[in-house]
Amino acid sequence: MAFGWIDEQADARRRAGLVRTLRPRPADSPLLDLASNDYLGLARHPEVTGAAAAAARAWGGGSTGSRLVTGTTELHTELERELAEFCGFEAALVFSSGYAANLAAVTALAPHGTLVVSDAGNHASLIDGCRLARGSTQVVPHADPEAVRKALATHEGPAVLVSDTVFSVDGDAAPLGEFAAVCRERGAGLVVDDAHGLGVLGPGGRGAARAAGLAGAADVVVTVTLSKSLGSQGGAVLGPARVVDHLVNAARTFIFDTGLAPAAAGAALAALRLLRREPGRAARAREVAAELHARLTAAGLEAVRPDAAVVSVRAPSPEGAVRWAADCRAAGLAVGCFRPPSVPDGVSRLRLTARGDLSGDQIERAVRVIGETRP
Ligand code: PMP
Repeated sequence: MAFGWIDEQADARRRAGLVRTLRPRPADSPLLDLASNDYLGLARHPEVTGAAAAAARAWGGGSTGSRLVTGTTELHTELERELAEFCGFEAALVFSSGYAANLAAVTALAPHGTLVVSDAGNHASLIDGCRLARGSTQVVPHADPEAVRKALATHEGPAVLVSDTVFSVDGDAAPLGEFAAVCRERGAGLVVDDAHGLGVLGPGGRGAARAAGLAGAADVVVTVTLSKSLGSQGGAVLGPARVVDHLVNAARTFIFDTGLAPAAAGAALAALRLLRREPGRAARAREVAAELHARLTAAGLEAVRPDAAVVSVRAPSPEGAVRWAADCRAAGLAVGCFRPPSVPDGVSRLRLTARGDLSGDQIERAVRVIGETRP
């Protein structure tokens, strides 16, 4: 039978208790949310939703075409200018998602003959970028500059190191300064995904590259998503103008994809302006993360010390993690649950978002529920 193997895989998932299901989120969910990526609580800010509505009214429900045809509005170009300026880069290019931005950056900057060194903890979108790139990829152990140095030493010719700035599973940060130093020893480029750093790290949330003193460098390219701290949807690549011009001409996920919806561009632009006006939001998210970690640890739970706004709590088993998250939900708390095959190391976790708008009472309640439902 056609696709018969699908049923075998589905059976295996059911036996392992690892079936994924979609659950619509009600607009007025009563759950305390530590599961979303809305790090700064901006997704529902009236300035952000108002800008989305105004953009849709002015420009339409969709962008109507690829960026190079009809899909570029004034909002897209303003967003690109202000994003680049905010993060300290010469230029930026907006994509329909962070995933598309990562595919673009890696494929367009690693043509045939290029060595791509990729951190073992990288997000799936960077991994897929490596798979699609014409260059050859070498995966190196997680957050290990010495392993990067060794990998780069094996290769003559162009090379690029690809890494998350903040890793999505454990919320730990990459050693960006050391990564940049080993790249510079060999004349290699550095491409970093700051999905979890923008809006949280650096002065006023200007991102991990800025925090590491790498913003605006000729050999550094940063990708971001607009879907986390900016409370919208979409992605962007930031870097030297010549790199952005190259992507406009060579990146397939830019050229052949419909431009970002105007509502999403408008929402991201409004969120960015809010963040600039209220720089304390970034520091507050980091404070909430530190407080969550301290309280979880005090409650005897095994939590990874967070470098940004992701707090990861170890679970005893994949089934235990799934049950733990379900029990939290039944007690009024939404948390993320990472388990195989989403985690490469096979270690299951609850994943908590330290939203900057959580109150002390909410943090306390979240920790109490997690402790009481512990498997
Ligand atoms: N990179 C990282 C590290 C992510 O966590 C995500 C989103 N889960 C992405 C890229 C993809 O971004 P988007 O959701 O905008 O496609």
